[in-house]
Formats: sequence, structure tokens, C-alpha cells
Amino acid sequence: VSFGEELVSPEEKTRRVGEVFSSVARRYDVMNDLMSGGLHRLWKDRFVARVKPRPGEHILDMAGGTGDIAFRMVQRGAEVTVSDINADMLAVGEQRAGKRGLKGLTWQVQNAEKLSFADNSFDAYTIVFGIRNVTHIPLALKEAHRVLKRGGRFFCMEFSRSDWPGFSELYDAWSKNVIPKLGKAIADDEASYKYLVESIQRFPRPENFRAMVTEAGFVRTAAEPMLGGLVTIHSGWKI
Ligand code: SAM
Repeated sequence: VSFGEELVSPEEKTRRVGEVFSSVARRYDVMNDLMSGGLHRLWKDRFVARVKPRPGEHILDMAGGTGDIAFRMVQRGAEVTVSDINADMLAVGEQRAGKRGLKGLTWQVQNAEKLSFADNSFDAYTIVFGIRNVTHIPLALKEAHRVLKRGGRFFCMEFSRSDWPGFSELYDAWSKNVIPKLGKAIADDEASYKYLVESIQRFPRPENFRAMVTEAGFVRTAAEPMLGGLVTIHSGWKI
């Protein structure tokens, strides 16, 4: 399976991304721990600390998958609509939320590129490790801007290549050699994990993505890189 953008049409990319996440949904949470050595939990805690969800706020967690970000936000009292293009990921999330007895969550299948929500609906929009899978990223950013209220906050966390010499090579070796093998062993799906690794390599560096967020209409945009930009928290405001 090849996901090279040059080889497939946009519709085909969207369809294949759908297959990847249907295939990984059941093992998604355990794979996250294995692939990141548990680090994704710390990154997610830090991300939600930046978002500062408050009781009474309504937040859209886009590409929310199995709910990791949304759970942390409802625990701080916000109401969260978890949206994802993939119903299988959301189904795993709903089940987890039920087991934990979490309240304040609404689950909805949505494509980030074309949301069914009205203009000015949400106090904040979050998207974590999701935007790199979206076929037309500028469209998704425009939609984020549209559905936010004035004064609403945009937050995105995404991977890219680290610019730390040494660390970057180590991470490349880990992600190219070990992650697809883990995918095969744990989820019996090497191709999907190969795609996920390649999509990290292709995602724009923090300063370039920040320019895209500004282009979509957000102001006071910021990029907070961690581990030399391996993971970056992006933010901006709608005024
Ligand atoms: N945010 C969750 C987390 O951090 O654990 C899930 C991240 S998961 C790596 C990426 C998610 O993006 C998948 O659930 C996938 O279905 C979703 N996704 C991909 N393309 C999308 C699109 N166009 N619109 C909405 N969600 C999309």
C-alpha cells in the first residue's frame, strides 16, 4: 500500500486514511503507549493545561479518536463534542467513556474539512495528532475558524521532524524500523503504521504550520516546540 500524495487522488487519500484508523482503532491506545514509551500521556496533559478548559465552556475536539483529549477536558468541567471522520475510533472512545462514567461528552462523525456546525459555535477547538491526516489542511483550518466564537481559542498538537541533531536520527531509526514492526506484532497491520510514520516525516515544520494557522485568519498565533519540534503545540485566537 502506498499513500504517497503524488500517487493517489485526494479522495483516495481520505479513503485510505479511513481504512488505517478502522484497522488500528481497537489497538490504538496500547499502541500509543508502546510507540511513545508512554510520553504521549505527558504531551496530552501539557496540551490540555495550555487549553485551560473551564466549566460552562463548549469545546470541539476534532479528530478526537478514542477520546484521550476530550476525557481530560471534561474532567476539568468543560462540555466536549468529540468529532472524528472515523466511526470505529469514536465507538472505542464511547465505550471507554462509559466504563469511566464520564459525563459531558457528545460524539459525532464529522470530516474536519467540512463541518456541519453553525458559525460561532464553540469556545475552543482542539485537534491532536489529527491534522496531518487531513487531506486539505487549509480547509480544515478555515472550518476551525468558522465554527469558533469570537474570542475563541484554537489549539493543535502535531508531530514533525525534530531538528535536534542525533535525536532526530535516533527517532528516525526507531520510527522507520521499530514502529511498523510493533504495528505488525500488536495490531497485525504493518502498512498502517508505516503510513503513520511517513505522515509525520511529511508534516510542515513548526514555523511553516504556524504560517498556515495565521493564513486561516487566526491572530496571536504561537508555536511551542518540544523535543526540537518532534511535537509542537500550536495556538491562535479568533477575534
Ligand atoms: N486525538 C486523538 C488522540 O490524540 O489520541 C486521536 C488521534 S489519531 C492519531 C488521528 C485521528 O484523526 C483518527 O481518529 C482519524 O480518524 C482522524 N481523522 C483523520 N482524518 C480526519 C478528517 N478529515 N476529519 C476528522 N478526523 C480525521
